[in-house]
Amino acid sequence: MTDRPSPDLLSAALTDADCGWHIFPLTPNHKYPALHSEERCPRTGPCTAGHLGWERRATTDPDVIRRAWSHGPYNIGVACGPSALVVVDLDTPKHPGDLPPARWAGQGITDGHDVFAALCEEHGQPAFHDTFTVRTGRGGTHLYFIAPAGLVLRNTTGEKGQGLGWKVDTRAHGGYVVAAGSTVAGHPYTVARDVPPMPLPAWLATLLTPKAPPVATLDTAAVRARIGRLQAYVQAAVRGETEKVAGAGEGVRNHTLFASSAALGRLVGAGTLPEPDATDALLAAGQACGLGEAECRRTIAKGLARGAGAVGRAA
Ligand SMILES: [Zn+2]
Repeated sequence: MTDRPSPDLLSAALTDADCGWHIFPLTPNHKYPALHSEERCPRTGPCTAGHLGWERRATTDPDVIRRAWSHGPYNIGVACGPSALVVVDLDTPKHPGDLPPARWAGQGITDGHDVFAALCEEHGQPAFHDTFTVRTGRGGTHLYFIAPAGLVLRNTTGEKGQGLGWKVDTRAHGGYVVAAGSTVAGHPYTVARDVPPMPLPAWLATLLTPKAPPVATLDTAAVRARIGRLQAYVQAAVRGETEKVAGAGEGVRNHTLFASSAALGRLVGAGTLPEPDATDALLAAGQACGLGEAECRRTIAKGLARGAGAVGRAA
């Protein structure tokens, strides 16, 4: 490994910048940024007014790029957000045991390319995209798309959250990709299809758009007013149980809702809390902690019945 500048990398970097892509240097032969970290910030140069990370230091300025790449054979990072790009990253398994999860098993799927093709088919879309494409060092594919105007998309990973699927990542705001011309662990990144990026297809934009938080279908002010007409100890019980539910973390939300429904069910069974008031208050709390309405209603009904039944048996 030499530290001499590489004319090929500089020319690739200038070509990318000429496309309007904001780039920054990556460590030679690696994927990580070659810029100083916040802990080691000298507070000089671009960081005089405070540390700037790679996303904000990424540039299209040819003079800055020439200067940076005159120091060594840096790989090229394309900061997707400032470049208005969404890059779909189709990856390959990392080892023989890296197998598709149940959702994709039995469909002849072996890597991210297959998952993406299956996804296109599921949505009635062509699998081929006539867009700028890079072949990665490990045999993966980067499909470059123009980000939709007015929509801030962020990175996604595999099947998590808004992710598209196994071995399919996306890079947008907060993310970067290793550009063609770079070499990682001795393996070059090459242009596989040299056409301008096409706009991100609408169906992909929809899949990648974070879902809005659930909208409470209840008029919570009206529920509060109804609860406010009940006896003080009943009000306190409703407040205590609904606070428990609203604050419940993922993994215990449904169980907490059931336990609180059972607790309030005892008051319903004793005739001191009208069943519709209990249901509405619990439903508002359940939705506030992120549970869906149908799931809430099922759990609440079961919990109330359990609580009310306990009163019946005790009497
Ligand atoms: Zn800094």
